[in-house]
Amino acid sequence: MSAHKNISRSKTLKGVTVSPGIEMAKVWKIVENSDEMRIKPHSIDESDIDRELSRFNRAIKTSHEQLDALYKMVEKRLGAKEAGIFKSHMLILDDPHFLTSVKELLKSEKKNIEHIINEVIKKFSLMFSMLDDNLMRERSADIRDVGQRVLKNLLTDRQTILEPNEKVIIVANELIPSITVKASDNILGFAVERGEMMSHASILARSLNIPAIVGVENICSEVSTGDTIIIDGTNSLVIVNPASKVIAEYKRIQIEYCVIKDDMKTAAKMPSVTTDGEQIKLLANINKVSDIELARQYNACGIGLFRTEFFFMSGDKMPGEEEQYAMYRRIVQDAGGNEVTIRVLDIGADKTLSYFAMPQELNPQLGWRGIRILLSELSLFKTQIRAILRASVHGRVKLLLPMISSVSEIIEARDIIEEAKFELQSRMQLEINVEIGAMIEVPAAVFILDEICRRVDFLSIGTNDLIQYLLAVDRNNSRVANFYEPLHPAVMNVIKMISDTAARNKKEVVLCGELAGDTLFTMILLGLGVRKLSMNPTAIPGVRKVIRSIPLAKCVEIARDILKLPCMHESKKYLKENVFPFLDHTIGN
Ligand code: PEP
Ligand code: MG
Repeated sequence: MSAHKNISRSKTLKGVTVSPGIEMAKVWKIVENSDEMRIKPHSIDESDIDRELSRFNRAIKTSHEQLDALYKMVEKRLGAKEAGIFKSHMLILDDPHFLTSVKELLKSEKKNIEHIINEVIKKFSLMFSMLDDNLMRERSADIRDVGQRVLKNLLTDRQTILEPNEKVIIVANELIPSITVKASDNILGFAVERGEMMSHASILARSLNIPAIVGVENICSEVSTGDTIIIDGTNSLVIVNPASKVIAEYKRIQIEYCVIKDDMKTAAKMPSVTTDGEQIKLLANINKVSDIELARQYNACGIGLFRTEFFFMSGDKMPGEEEQYAMYRRIVQDAGGNEVTIRVLDIGADKTLSYFAMPQELNPQLGWRGIRILLSELSLFKTQIRAILRASVHGRVKLLLPMISSVSEIIEARDIIEEAKFELQSRMQLEINVEIGAMIEVPAAVFILDEICRRVDFLSIGTNDLIQYLLAVDRNNSRVANFYEPLHPAVMNVIKMISDTAARNKKEVVLCGELAGDTLFTMILLGLGVRKLSMNPTAIPGVRKVIRSIPLAKCVEIARDILKLPCMHESKKYLKENVFPFLDHTIGN
């Protein structure tokens, strides 16, 4: 990384902390500009040509894989004739004339590859559009379509960008899962213009223990790669090129912060029991194998949610049965007999796989997501099921189905699981014993919960999605972020309905959305009947501390009062008067 030569003045910017912590390092700006700006021409050095060429080759390869997947999917559903269009798109990708034109223009013009591709596409599509033959003219649209695909893959490919060789803080336009999922040890923090507390990218940053501040207006234009910045998650500040006095002060604060974290880890050893003797189970949400160590450090009594999609997102091809089996087995073995809840692939909306073609949707949050994808992509689903069932032999595994909105989805999924179980038992003589659970995160599921309970072994409340669907607020949309209100009476009542119905049906229920780790809600959730909470491991000590200093009877009283309040304004006032003072006293919030 080249050193920044400007003598820049210090500046403080305000944002919103989505992952706590304090860090100080050089900036690495990874999205220098918007997509539109990245397509604009800029000169590159002779030495950059090879790098741009390998980015181009990678984008071609990804586009090929996507088109091949689309071909197979359409062929299966509609037939070879209808799928033929994707074959011809693949031919365009392989066209030696197209490939050579890009490479030659890159070498002669020495401009960014995005711009070069855009130019070559324009030239080719213009050439075809001027031909007399109708069929040939239609090829012009195909060329533009293929070109857009390659360009899109180039713009989303950040592989080269995420391997800094020194400690850096990433500055970008937006915090997206494909950035956070690939964060290496050299990435100390994120300061970005756009992002939301409940987005998967923020959840990932929290689970990686990497401080992140979003909503920092204009940070991309305020800083350059090589500037020094401090991100202060406690005060939601980003300090650009701080004065030496400020740096010294933050070094001191950082040490204090580490001491507090160590104290928290010590507190983690205590049992999580209320003062009147109610045992509350605290489990960990994990996203990758190494998180199990974090879960152990914070004394989680099991894994309440393993989001398998982040493992799928970290690679560049669909993991096969053996690869998945090895990974699940390690987690199950490392859990040392504690329960491990493995959620089957929950992709769609903001979680996409670079190698798996997804349709462009107007409302992806209401679209092809979770179980809907799995039940239409059976080979993908069955592969994962087989890998999980095989791993279950090594410990206590629970299998969780995401985005359930109807009983028939559970019946279909269970049939597939039973079939795989039967096959593995007869082929490999395995003794398979897994519990099957449903995520309750779509409001429809709440109203058919008795029927769902009859068909599953446990329930898992996904408040992140439940709130977005209940209140009709996209969890990734900053404009409506203030409508995303967990204290809404509808949310409180729905959690109560779920825990009551589960108790009536003698089914265990765990709450695994971000609310589980928010100490503001601990007393309310306990009062609403929740006895099992699964969260980012680092949130466990705070929640444990609250649990250890309250009687359950007080929680029940608080929840009863909250349920009676008709609007959030009153609930917030109530919290301020009845819960805040209590938290101040217990955890010093
Ligand atoms: C949820 O929706 O609350 C949940 C735990 O799943 P995710 O955040 O991955 O959608
Ligand atoms: Mg969810």
